[in-house]
Amino acid sequence: MSELRDELNNDNAVYKTLLESTKAIPWKIDWVSMKFTYIGPQIASLLGWSQDSWVSAEDWAMRMHPEDREYVVNFCISQSKAGVDHEADYRALTKDNGYVWIRDVVHVVRNEEGEVDSLIGFMFDISERKITEEKLINLQKELEALSFKDGLTGIANRRMFDLRLNNEWASARRSNQPLSLIVLDIDFFKQYNDHYGHVQGDKCLTSVAQTLNLAAARPKDIVARYGGEEFVILLPETDQSAALKVAERCDNLIRKLKIPHEKSEISPLLTVSIGVGTITPSTEMAAENFIQAVDKLLYAAKQKGRNRIESGKL
Ligand code: GH3
Ligand code: MG
Ligand code: MG
Repeated sequence: MSELRDELNNDNAVYKTLLESTKAIPWKIDWVSMKFTYIGPQIASLLGWSQDSWVSAEDWAMRMHPEDREYVVNFCISQSKAGVDHEADYRALTKDNGYVWIRDVVHVVRNEEGEVDSLIGFMFDISERKITEEKLINLQKELEALSFKDGLTGIANRRMFDLRLNNEWASARRSNQPLSLIVLDIDFFKQYNDHYGHVQGDKCLTSVAQTLNLAAARPKDIVARYGGEEFVILLPETDQSAALKVAERCDNLIRKLKIPHEKSEISPLLTVSIGVGTITPSTEMAAENFIQAVDKLLYAAKQKGRNRIESGKL
């Protein structure tokens, strides 16, 4: 008998050594009292708070970044109540008022009656991974700023458009050729977002963008996302009547998408307002004034009730 006891004690010692020598910090909380029954001594070197200062779940919650607390605590409580193993990332407060990114991996232990008995988990220090993630996100933002492609819709962005407009402006002036511009804005898109949600809003923007890309078919044409739900199409060597045809094609193709828009005040399907302007650039005028003039046509289309095209020779 005593051999078995020795063996068990020996096993326990082995487990204890293993648990307390890993980098992950093991812990256990009793579900009824919400008190820690164990936390690894490594916690002191990671966060600075002594091992015996972790008394209840309250201590855990209070030593969390205020921005993470509500979400993480609610999430962990609801998952635990439902008896689901889970994990959460949050910033844990250190004794010297810093923060360390933690991933807490939680296992829900049930008693013989199937009720939640306790929670057992491991805290992992993931600060390095989070720093790498942050660096990646920043890098991605920088790349996006440098790129010519709109991140959401995949069509040209405003940077690309501005560059091409300047080129085409100069070239039209040299050759005395007309240059046309279409400015298109989705009607009541704020209501669309509010009603269908941002994710659906993003999908809608993407299909409109892809559709417009098809509508302007000549190699020199450029379709770009100018801002939120506003698109521009630059049509070099295109006169007023040809530009109006392209605008009508855009309008028709978007109509054919039949995107439901329950909250639109003018139609059960998604509609757009369009301004189309044509100019043969002179030396006096700057390209920006051209955009402004076409934007005014768009504004007029909105004023006259939306879902329409306003065109003009400038
Ligand atoms: P109007 O008919 O006068 O054009 O009204 P509107 O609601 O379309 O125009 P408003 O400028 O008031 O709102 C534009 C909305 O577009 C607000 C914003 O939430 C949404 N939006 C802008 N960019 C994005 C985006 O990238 N994704 C999503 N989902 N929505 C966007
Ligand atoms: Mg709009
Ligand atoms: Mg707009």
